[in-house]
Amino acid sequence: QASPATAVGATDKYPTSHEQIQSPGNTPYFLNNKFVDSKTGSWIDLYDPATNNLVTRVPQSTDEELNAAVESAKKAFPAWKATSLLHKQQIMFKFVGLIRQHWDRLAASITLEQGKTFADAKGDVLRGLQVAETACGITTQLTGEVLEVAKDMETRNYREPIGVVASICPFNFPAMIPLWSIPIATITGNTLILKPSERDPGAAMILAELAREAGYPDGVINIVHGSAKTVDFIIDEPAIKAISFVGSNKAGEYIFTRGSAKGKRVQANLGAKNHAAVLPDANKNHALNSIAGAAFGAAGQRCMALSALVMVGKTKDWLPEIAKRAKKLNVNGGFEEGADLGPLISPQAKERIERIITTAEEEGATILLDGRGYKPEKYPNGNWIGPTVIVNVKPHMKCYTEEIFGPVLVCLNVDTMDDAIDMINANEYGNGVAIFTNSGSSAARFQKDIEAGQVGINVPIPVPLPMFSFTGNKKSVAGGGANTFYGKSGLNFYTQTKTVTSLWRSEDAFAAKANVEMPT
Ligand code: NAD
Repeated sequence: QASPATAVGATDKYPTSHEQIQSPGNTPYFLNNKFVDSKTGSWIDLYDPATNNLVTRVPQSTDEELNAAVESAKKAFPAWKATSLLHKQQIMFKFVGLIRQHWDRLAASITLEQGKTFADAKGDVLRGLQVAETACGITTQLTGEVLEVAKDMETRNYREPIGVVASICPFNFPAMIPLWSIPIATITGNTLILKPSERDPGAAMILAELAREAGYPDGVINIVHGSAKTVDFIIDEPAIKAISFVGSNKAGEYIFTRGSAKGKRVQANLGAKNHAAVLPDANKNHALNSIAGAAFGAAGQRCMALSALVMVGKTKDWLPEIAKRAKKLNVNGGFEEGADLGPLISPQAKERIERIITTAEEEGATILLDGRGYKPEKYPNGNWIGPTVIVNVKPHMKCYTEEIFGPVLVCLNVDTMDDAIDMINANEYGNGVAIFTNSGSSAARFQKDIEAGQVGINVPIPVPLPMFSFTGNKKSVAGGGANTFYGKSGLNFYTQTKTVTSLWRSEDAFAAKANVEMPT
């Protein structure tokens, strides 16, 4: 079955500019390896954030469609579980090749629906692709342990799939985050129901098409759509045994609490407020460029964006230079040559962020660079805010206590590195942190004393590659972060352990009488 031409995400033609969507169609759902038009009466309009032109309509999947996805995944599970690991690995090799082949197409869908620049969207795809590439090593990653524990007796363990699992994704990485789940959940033998963000499902739809082409059997990967109603269905459906969630604290804490109460495994990565501490001995040029890139890239809509800057000692004098570098960034439609950052996801996000900037002013901070009111000439109707630098920020201010998720850098001043550590640790989030210094001993102490889970030393966005895990701490993960995404811990999340203890000996070597005591 060909992909439906109506779905922007699932055609082999892809846009190369913001003007190309002439007649928006509906995004289908994906069931049993087929794209299916939804029968819903409830649609979510999806607008290009750069123009606010309608791109596609996303269905709120009906109860029937949600149940059909569960049936499809349930039916596929036994045969998929029994499929040899080497066969699954071959499918993953092909999937990886197809993602590379369709890299531009995936990125274009992201630029159109999510807004980030085409170059940055390619990075979004790559980071997810790397999870799939790493999953190709499953034949060595999934080996168990075996030990002869007593005479003629050995214990060995296996990692077996859980069954039907679900993944609920945020808007900000439309390819990477579905790819945190798809490869690992499926190569370990589970069948998957994925709910992309209703704000940009196109990349996930393309991934479904590529998965089918790679040879995934019917029903192993299913895609449903919608918002809270679909999420509640996933939480309540007894056949779904595990939920992967990435998104805001509001949704994630709810999903974790309610999903756990229903006896499900839940892994949930949540919001953030990532700090950078700059010491006076830092390489100034590297620190300032890194901070500008990490604060304003993707219009600040990254969970690892560096959104809070802690200037130690005299480095506060460098703030005007940060504003100067931020001002040079080109804010434009994501398909435009030379664009550094694109628009915000929605008019509501723009308004919310503008309000936070205004509140900062009212609370006594200084707006050193003000991105409010900025509009690129060609796209006057987009959700724009230019890079914004707020200085003299104090920890009680709303611009510091809230995750802004926009191109806004809030800057605080302290006297010493110890003050910086205390301030950063007092923040309830703990996703990522960076320190810029040329002192090995300062870096070593910072690394030890800081509570955030992903530490960069002269590295602004220290997201671990998929051979490690994504390891946020504190309020940036639900449930204390016991179930982290990808890496060894990701494999553990998607598998349950079976331990087998066996005794093999010749008949005459067995005891003649029953033994009722525990062996000592
Ligand atoms: P979001 O929580 O609004 O949406 C995420 C998912 O939850 C979507 O699929 C959405 O449909 C669903 N959802 C939204 N509200 C819901 C509700 N009330 N009940 C049930 N389900 C609901 O998040 P977002 O705005 O799409 O993404 C941005 C957030 O995600 C930021 O807070 C960011 O820090 C976080 N994030 C975290 C990581 C990480 O690894 N820590 C990575 C990316 C994004």
